[in-house]
Amino acid sequence: MVQFAPRVESISISAIRELFEVAGPDSINLGIGQPDFPTPAHVRAAATAAIEAGEVDAYTPNNGQLATRQAIAAKSRRDQGVPIEPERIILTAGGSEALHIAIMAHVSPGDEVLIPDPGFVSYDALVRLAGGRPVPVPLRDDLTLDPAAVAAAMTDDTVAFIINSPGNPTGAVSPPEDIDAFAALAAESETLCISDEVYEYTVFDGTFRSALEGGAGEHVVVVNSASKLFSMTGWRIGWVIGSPDRVTRMLRVHQYAQACATAVSQVALRAALEGPQDIVTEMTTTFARRRDVVVGRLEAMGLSVPTPGGAFYAMPQVPEGFAQACIENDVLVVPGDAFGAAGADRVRISFATEMATLEEGLDRMETALASL
Ligand code: PMP
Repeated sequence: MVQFAPRVESISISAIRELFEVAGPDSINLGIGQPDFPTPAHVRAAATAAIEAGEVDAYTPNNGQLATRQAIAAKSRRDQGVPIEPERIILTAGGSEALHIAIMAHVSPGDEVLIPDPGFVSYDALVRLAGGRPVPVPLRDDLTLDPAAVAAAMTDDTVAFIINSPGNPTGAVSPPEDIDAFAALAAESETLCISDEVYEYTVFDGTFRSALEGGAGEHVVVVNSASKLFSMTGWRIGWVIGSPDRVTRMLRVHQYAQACATAVSQVALRAALEGPQDIVTEMTTTFARRRDVVVGRLEAMGLSVPTPGGAFYAMPQVPEGFAQACIENDVLVVPGDAFGAAGADRVRISFATEMATLEEGLDRMETALASL
């Protein structure tokens, strides 16, 4: 009989993927978690040139090409005013691998990791894969994570907590003082704050603040990625920033699991970071317009929805059976319990879809709601 490791038996394929499998051919999919924009032309061109010149045929250093890590350091100086040495950066296969190596390097069997509930599906699964215990922390009514709630959930077994602003599935943007409070909490409690900042550039209201800015230095690991910043999900390129001690440990996991991030994608990331930033403005303006339409329509339907300040998701409270009624009316939204028990009375609606389709999807949602 085949025996599988308990760690892999403790997780399953994301409910979001399962949802897509039941979709009818005419369904409008508002469950999608990636920007609907092409990767910028100058990024594609830089990658093509590197391929043609034979510059990306070989392994790169395990932590990634120095020039790309320098470009990330320059980004941190430019955007956050924080100096980061390139030695504190590892290039990874997206934010996904960055989260994985951060968790593998710090979490032992039995350790507790506090995660936002509802929160991004990988947090729970990656903590379990490391043998740790994910401990969900319910969000405030406005769907931000409360530093006091994280502090209150800590026990002697807590080794880390994960924050994510702007958030998936909520679209919520934490106020800067909360981010600073999380960084301070990590230092005080001698735990690790893993800050998932992959939606950094998609902010409509309020101000993005990186956990790097809180001055907690060695108690913070930051995860970021080209996927959402530059619409490059298929390139699988991201990075993690940590103290030298932490980077040494994360690099061990990365070296044996991955060797190095894909060479051509490292070149593409550098081009994205150093080239014109028009796509960032274009995407943010477009998402903001759609956000206004989605929130307006949901409120007109009588649903209560915190206004998402960033990312491209809205999470209204819905009556029981709503997600299923949506499927029957050929519009897909993700049931909130896919992101944690505290999301059970909500759904996640993505607005990474062009306006006409989005509006048709909202019409179908209205029909679904009326059928309940
Ligand atoms: N963090 C969050 C909050 C996400 O939503 C995603 C993608 N859905 C990721 C990390 C990982 O993205 P990637 O691996 O494409 O960088």
